Amino acid sequence: MIFAHALLRKGVEIEVLESPTVGIIGVGEGSTPWLRGFFDGLGIEESEWMPACNATYKCGITFDGWSTKEGFESYFHPFASMLDNLTMTQFVHNAHARTNGADVETHPNRFFIAAYLAERNLAPKPARAFPFDVWYGYHFDAVLLGEYLHRRAVELGVRYRECHVTGAQLDERGEIASVSIRDGEPVTADIFVDCTGFAGLLIQKALGTPFVSFSNNLFNDAAVAMPTPIGSDIPSQTISTALKHGWRWKIPLTNRFGNGYVYSSAFCSADDAERELRESLGMLDSDMPARHLKMKIGRVTRHWNKNCLAVGLAQGFIEPLEATALLFIQRTAMHFVEFLEAGDVSEAAHDRFNQRINDHFEGTRDYIVTHYKTNTRRDTDYWRANAENTNLSDSLRQLYALWMAGRSIAPDVGRQAIGKGYPVFSWYCIMSGMGIFPDRNDLHPPTAAENRYSMEEIDNLLQRSVRNFPGQREMLTNIPPKNRERSLQIYFW
Ligand SMILES: Cc1cc2nc3c(=O)[nH]c(=O)nc-3n(C[C@H](O)[C@H](O)[C@H](O)COP(=O)(O)OP(=O)(O)OC[C@H]3O[C@@H](n4cnc5c(N)ncnc54)[C@H](O)[C@@H]3O)c2cc1C
Repeated sequence: MIFAHALLRKGVEIEVLESPTVGIIGVGEGSTPWLRGFFDGLGIEESEWMPACNATYKCGITFDGWSTKEGFESYFHPFASMLDNLTMTQFVHNAHARTNGADVETHPNRFFIAAYLAERNLAPKPARAFPFDVWYGYHFDAVLLGEYLHRRAVELGVRYRECHVTGAQLDERGEIASVSIRDGEPVTADIFVDCTGFAGLLIQKALGTPFVSFSNNLFNDAAVAMPTPIGSDIPSQTISTALKHGWRWKIPLTNRFGNGYVYSSAFCSADDAERELRESLGMLDSDMPARHLKMKIGRVTRHWNKNCLAVGLAQGFIEPLEATALLFIQRTAMHFVEFLEAGDVSEAAHDRFNQRINDHFEGTRDYIVTHYKTNTRRDTDYWRANAENTNLSDSLRQLYALWMAGRSIAPDVGRQAIGKGYPVFSWYCIMSGMGIFPDRNDLHPPTAAENRYSMEEIDNLLQRSVRNFPGQREMLTNIPPKNRERSLQIYFW
């Protein structure tokens, strides 16, 4: 859709070849707020696509059971919004004071409108005039969304052909000249986009692009998924619950919950994982089938290699803890369009492009690793191995060192020298939310400067604000058109 929207009108022809025998992965039901920009950019209204995909609004993610520290057994990673202009400074100030030993409130759930909305199953869209835009993502049925976008792409003029690709022929420069298909003539093109999923048929198999595994600090390599019924209230958050050898997602759609257990096969068999998932869902006696999946975690070294661009699982995957995979796809496609539009397909352009995408992968990996590294569970070898893991990037080491020394990470993260890919508030949320602070015997009562902000005022502000937001179910029965003036005013700290 991104290519079609930008390139068809310039005379570029796009043809999708899809195997009739290899299915799609069929999971991936959560997103980041950037997906809003995808639909906005294409001019597709929520009222068009959301009902077609059983979609719901998402305010962020609750992490349950990742920390055993008292008061930090659960925390919410919110999507930031303009309203957070009024509470973010206080949150960062308090967290900083706490890393210096002051006994002040630092739990992220107390500071963000999104946490208040999620706790009450409210939609992140105000029912009446409200001066702040609240940023949000979506949950959706991945199969239905794929089908919806397929229909829209064909309407735009993308050609679609069902055929199984068996391999690629390279020319004398090592570029892809054509792909061979079962029962047909080879297909030629100027540029080949490999979106064959974990198979990486063109980027990895045909071109031999090296793959960098992240398995030395992200241990999960398998998942098992199954749906459960949903009641009349529809939550507006994903819940990520730590289990014995990984974590379980719970994603609300309009007609069901999607659930899945992401785990490490080095610590747990597929049967044990399914049993634990069923048990945690109260589905031990249910005959609802579960789907088992393998995951390859890491990335290719060159996402744009010669005349091939890899998109999606073919280019790499970081496990779904923060639901970031569709964002990689979106960014990769959009950056590629930028390069094509600039007419720059030189080797140097390839390098710049690949550096950008790799930075995005590495930054996201570091943020995901932090969830595991900072866990305080000691109940299984899996959690102990994660806590003891010393395979950390230099950037992450530097960030932890600053934090544990009671120094502010905000300036370095703000200019993306460390903690790349995530904003300042996300880093403060994860560290404060997990209760990670320098070890001290005693906290001191806060000084007047440390205690500058009143929690009562923050609470009053957020309590007053949530009154403007309707229940998620109510909002989904009559989705209003997008307010285009406000929808791009994003606050990102
Ligand atoms: C457990 C799990 C949970 C996830 N959760 C999230 C999430 O919450 N949020 C998120 O953003 N992402 C998530 N993802 C990732 C997300 O599912 C994928 O990024 C997304 O679905 C895109 O997949 P894909 O199109 O790259 O690959 P696939 O869905 O595997 O599609 C591959 C396509 O290539 C075709 N193909 C393969 N071989 C051939 C061939 N030889 N010839 C022709 N065609 C071929 C297939 O027919 C298919 O259409 C998750 C992934 C997993 C594994």
